[in-house]
Amino acid sequence: MPKNNITLFRLFGFNVRIDSSWIIILFLVIWSLAEGFFPARFAELGGQTYWMMAIAGAIGLFASIIIHEFSHAFIARKYGLKIQNITLFVFGGVAEMKEEPHSPKVEFLMAIAGPIASLLLWVLFNTLHRIGSAMEAPLPITGVLGYLGMINLLLAIFNMLPAFPTDGGRVLRAFLWWRKKDIRWATQMASRISLFFAVSIIFIGFVNMIANNIIGGIWWILIGSFLFSAAHASYHSLLIKQSFEGKTVRHFMNPSPVTVPYDTTLEALIENYLSHYPHKMFPVTKEDDIVGMITLKEIKTVPDEDRKHRLAGDVMQPKDTNNSVSIDTAVDDVLVKMNTTGASRLLVTEKNKAVGIITLKDLIEFIALKMELEE
Ligand SMILES: [Zn+2]
Repeated sequence: MPKNNITLFRLFGFNVRIDSSWIIILFLVIWSLAEGFFPARFAELGGQTYWMMAIAGAIGLFASIIIHEFSHAFIARKYGLKIQNITLFVFGGVAEMKEEPHSPKVEFLMAIAGPIASLLLWVLFNTLHRIGSAMEAPLPITGVLGYLGMINLLLAIFNMLPAFPTDGGRVLRAFLWWRKKDIRWATQMASRISLFFAVSIIFIGFVNMIANNIIGGIWWILIGSFLFSAAHASYHSLLIKQSFEGKTVRHFMNPSPVTVPYDTTLEALIENYLSHYPHKMFPVTKEDDIVGMITLKEIKTVPDEDRKHRLAGDVMQPKDTNNSVSIDTAVDDVLVKMNTTGASRLLVTEKNKAVGIITLKDLIEFIALKMELEE
């Protein structure tokens, strides 16, 4: 889960956020417009004017990307898919879906909505550019309009590259899914094609840099690397989701944990439990009911000489919703909890009894095995 996102504003019930890399991208956009694009086309304008045009162009680009993303989000919402956040990345953004589309048709419509919006914006800005030119509007204005027309056409084309999870990749996946009726196979194929594309784009970037086109080369490499990591991540997250689908804590926990009575002294705990069992965490019970858990970390807070009379119940972490889950909790929810609390092992309870321990390590091993079988 990406953590370096900044929420900008809320509109129509969606949070619009930027990836922190966007700040660098924004600077790169403004700089390449002010120092490269505009001076090359309008030689007669001054340096300050180029920078103003560049800033206006960047704002227009930003708005265009938001409109593109909103069109995805609206279609998704129309088909009942939950979308909370719209996060802007390098070229375009991501309307973050909580769930995958239910059918190839929904996936196709949702994916194609963005490029269609970009094409409409291309037509709009081009028309405005023509009208402006006909009316002899100031050059900086028509210049920015012309740029926005061009950039929206590029956005439409770029997003239609068959590189999952871009729109083109999703259209490709929808097609493969529709043909074979197997979303996993379709995702795998779409991801493979995407990885090939991403590597080709990075290669083009290096060729450009060798040919002394430094700015162009940097762009290609940035875009290629972004596509590469996105294709990788989206396939793996689908695999993880599907592996855990319908599975609960019951399937993955270590059952019958060794429990420690509430009134055990820490000294006895070290002698009779820690040095006997290969466990890192012991559930603490009081009259058979689970009341908390204890690990070496809690024991270490008590000096050696006091461990004779301090009890497990005194220093344990009391059981709460952050360190325990019920046996019927879905594994998805366990992963979310581990991710938000940072805990790598949780108590499993059933009717106030400790019935097991679930660890992140076991879940990861299960996924690693699945992936190995998949290769
Ligand atoms: Zn899109």
